[in-house]
Amino acid sequence: MQEAMNPPSERRAQSRYVPGRISTLVVLLALALISIASVSLVYVGRIAAGVADAQAQGNEDRLFANALHDKKVMMAREQLALARWTKSYRNISQRFSQGYIRKELVDWIWNDYRHDRTSLVGEGGKLLMTAREDKADFAARTLATDDPVAMIVTRAVARFMSNREPMPGGFRQKRISVAQVDAITDFAFATIDGEPALVSAMAVVPDDDEAIAMPDGAPVILVSAKFLRGEFSAELNAQLAFKDFTFDANTGTASAGQSVLEGIDGRLIGAFRWTRAQPGAEIWSVVIPVIGVLAAVLALSAGLIARGIARISTRLEASEARNRQLALHDALTGLANRLHFNQSLDAAVGRLPHLPFAVLACDLDRFKAVNDTYGHAAGDTVIRIVAERLATVVGGAGLVGRPGGDEFLILVTGFTDQPRLRVLTHQIIASVSMPITLDDGAITDVGASIGVAVAPDHGASAAAILASADAALYGAKERGRGIAVFAQHLTQYTTPEQAGGVASNVA
Ligand code: GH3
Ligand code: MG
Repeated sequence: MQEAMNPPSERRAQSRYVPGRISTLVVLLALALISIASVSLVYVGRIAAGVADAQAQGNEDRLFANALHDKKVMMAREQLALARWTKSYRNISQRFSQGYIRKELVDWIWNDYRHDRTSLVGEGGKLLMTAREDKADFAARTLATDDPVAMIVTRAVARFMSNREPMPGGFRQKRISVAQVDAITDFAFATIDGEPALVSAMAVVPDDDEAIAMPDGAPVILVSAKFLRGEFSAELNAQLAFKDFTFDANTGTASAGQSVLEGIDGRLIGAFRWTRAQPGAEIWSVVIPVIGVLAAVLALSAGLIARGIARISTRLEASEARNRQLALHDALTGLANRLHFNQSLDAAVGRLPHLPFAVLACDLDRFKAVNDTYGHAAGDTVIRIVAERLATVVGGAGLVGRPGGDEFLILVTGFTDQPRLRVLTHQIIASVSMPITLDDGAITDVGASIGVAVAPDHGASAAAILASADAALYGAKERGRGIAVFAQHLTQYTTPEQAGGVASNVA
């Protein structure tokens, strides 16, 4: 009953602090932060991995192109040692010496440089000699125009023509350093004797420092071919150190991004392949643990913050409850104070006329004498004991309050009929009047006078009903104390002594 009488404002205040709610918010916030951080890291990781992979691929492609260019230049330099040499010019272009070609040119090119195929092609695309490794074949024939060797020879002749300069009695090749060898060399990829090969071609010319004039017309072109499979690939990768590097002659599996080679005749001849470096994958091995650590740190922090908030909230709630108790209860007795009692009274007035109620104004009789005889502290003890007795007697029938002094107010909502109210007042007077043992062992006793007013009969407002109860109390004091007087029948009074008992004493 006491609980049910709490005013609505108190119940609202109780639900304001919910520690769990703030902690849940913190946990949700942490989850949101973890999600945002993870998504951001994954996003950044993806971009970084993509950039790293693209950069690595770009580097590999550049490395590959450089290594291939080095191989071309190397091959051209090897050719140049024989093609720009007066002895070769004399023995090939001026007089065609099979002996020189077989024993020096072909032997040298194969044994020292390992060019797999060597050809000499004269004017009009006429094949003068073909060497397979070190075996020279002098069966002359005119190459078909779509023969890859004929095609590269045509380019080499054109290049010679643009690189030659007039001199007394004819022409000579412009002076060019070994380092600039690719300026006088034509390179191409082609399938030679069924093998994908790197082909290079250059004109056979006298040494730069000899004043030998070449006649007008096409020079003899020295064509060399190195097969791409095997040794060439191995040497290329000795420089690159790419993973699973290989030359794949199967053009059907040519894939984008790898070095697919197009022959001079426009047909694909194969592709160099290797397993691409993927530094992006390594980024994930960093990003994933970072996400894990970040999530753990955030979750831990959120847990700690939530726990802290829960503790603070619990303390706040306890302090709020203490404040509420202090604000609404009498410090000496713990009973409802005047504010609390008035709030409950207002609430009860609000429920009129459907739910009538009674107010009992109760004042101790001859209390001052206790103070005077035993001291103020003893008086406090008496007030406290009386308060406990009142609360026990009234129980669930209503709310007991102490507005101050030796006065108590009781709001009875359980019943309003006179017989039961009389019984209650008898019980109160009998209970309060029982002897009280003080702390020092002294025994004292006080009495109680009660004024009873019933709403709405004796007042429909808080002030009116209190005034009626006070007037009735005054009447009780007037009539000699130790009795209860009802407001409407100020002549009616009752004392426990008169009845010789408590419940049946009705005047
Ligand atoms: P009556 O029978 O007419 O009621 O007289 P009484 O002696 O009870 O005196 P009265 O009710 O007029 O005054 C109450 C006294 O109680 C006045 C004051 O000295 C004392 N008092 C008021 N508050 C307290 C308190 O909190 N503690 C103590 N010990 N005494 C109090
Ligand atoms: Mg008194």
